[in-house]
Amino acid sequence: MNNSNEREGLWQRLHKERAKGEAIRLALAYGGDYLDGLPSRRVFPDQAALAALAAFDEPLPDEPTQAAEIISQLHKLGAPATTAQGGGRYFGFVNGGLLPAALGARLLADVWDQNAALHVMSPIAAELEAVCERWLVDLLGLPAGSVAGLVSGTSTATLCGLLAGRNALLSRLGWDVNAQGLFGAPKLRAVLSGGAHITVRKALAILGLGAAQIETVPADAQGRIDRQFLPPLDQTTLLILQAGNVNSGAFDDFAPLCGIAREAGAWTHIDGAFGLWARACETTAHLTAGIELADSWSVDAHKTLNSPYDCGILLCRDREALVGALQASDSYLQFGAGRDGMLYTPDMSRRARGVELWAALKSLGRAGIDELVAQLCRRARQFAEELRAHHFRVLNDVVFNQVLVACESPALTTRTLERLQDGGECWCGGSQWHGEPVIRISVCSWATSPDDVRRSVAAFVAARERAAASLA
Ligand SMILES: *Cc1c(COP(=O)(O)O)cnc(C)c1O
Repeated sequence: MNNSNEREGLWQRLHKERAKGEAIRLALAYGGDYLDGLPSRRVFPDQAALAALAAFDEPLPDEPTQAAEIISQLHKLGAPATTAQGGGRYFGFVNGGLLPAALGARLLADVWDQNAALHVMSPIAAELEAVCERWLVDLLGLPAGSVAGLVSGTSTATLCGLLAGRNALLSRLGWDVNAQGLFGAPKLRAVLSGGAHITVRKALAILGLGAAQIETVPADAQGRIDRQFLPPLDQTTLLILQAGNVNSGAFDDFAPLCGIAREAGAWTHIDGAFGLWARACETTAHLTAGIELADSWSVDAHKTLNSPYDCGILLCRDREALVGALQASDSYLQFGAGRDGMLYTPDMSRRARGVELWAALKSLGRAGIDELVAQLCRRARQFAEELRAHHFRVLNDVVFNQVLVACESPALTTRTLERLQDGGECWCGGSQWHGEPVIRISVCSWATSPDDVRRSVAAFVAARERAAASLA
């Protein structure tokens, strides 16, 4: 831009791109095409689509680019390099599908461009957060008065739960972290299972608890904390339990463990990133018996609930412990009578996640959430049965949505997974289970039909044939 006339041209153009909704209408048209093609596209991009990404690798342009051109470039070159996560045959990691109403709500909220830090910044965002908090506490059967913080994911949610716990334990020992800091504070310990998720150790490290303060309890064959090895707990203990092991989907035995922890004055946090939703389904609720005895819980809406990325939730029994740990105030902030979302999260400026969360919950309702969870479990069991019928080994008890699969030999398993990932018909990740490589299936999308499972099992069989031929 070398003179002011040209700059005026730029603002005129931005006004036009906004007023006529040019950019968003184009994005919606392309997005609609994408959704229509989702069931039939490759689940992982092919080599040509990956190679075409090189077109993005340009220097930052000196001159502005029209919105329409930006959106078109994304559609043309970006869309083919996506993974078809919202289709029916993506089983990698624990990545949920996408509910139409939640997607629509997310897009609308993006158009509104609200900052959900304070009620006064966005009354609608604050209102829907408060509604979600109430609905979730009810749906998950948590203690009345528990509060929710909407964050980016379970990593941050767990960090917040353990932060509240750390400060609460220290406070009971007569130490005020906000006033005195951590240096010289009484020592705390963390007790967790050998099957705990890596994000738990990350959160503990951020909070000042390293390997020397962590006591790892051996896990049983399914990845549950083995109670016979539980060390004595006390009022310096953070106990971390798990609803849904990231490999096997197994649930810790909450009722006795939480009971022991309460008795001892420990703080219990439950990592329920995808598994806490079991509580909202009649046929799986028994897996979560006793979670209401814990102090804090983390769960992702972007996993089992199928709301858009990114939406994690921290729930905490003790409002004061959480808000006190995340305290921040300054004279320019205007806290109000309504809900001020930033009080419950480490962030200040935040997008309005409550909008899509509310939409996801309302679009399914209690019965729909029950059915969603039940269906994911049914499809996982279908996978296990059909794979066994084709002489694959299923290594875990399929209690939820996770299935761990192996072939006759570790080499054949590894090669089969490579062929499966290359094939593009479905996508699974790999892992190690009791020292053996496994193909890891996570059924996470409402869109996965019985036929998607059958097609995927056929892809497993074909991949194993090609793998065996290549090893012969
Ligand atoms: C996914 C997952 C996490 C991490 O959650 P993010 O939303 O990715 O931060 C933690 N624990 C378990 C059991 C998970 O499945």
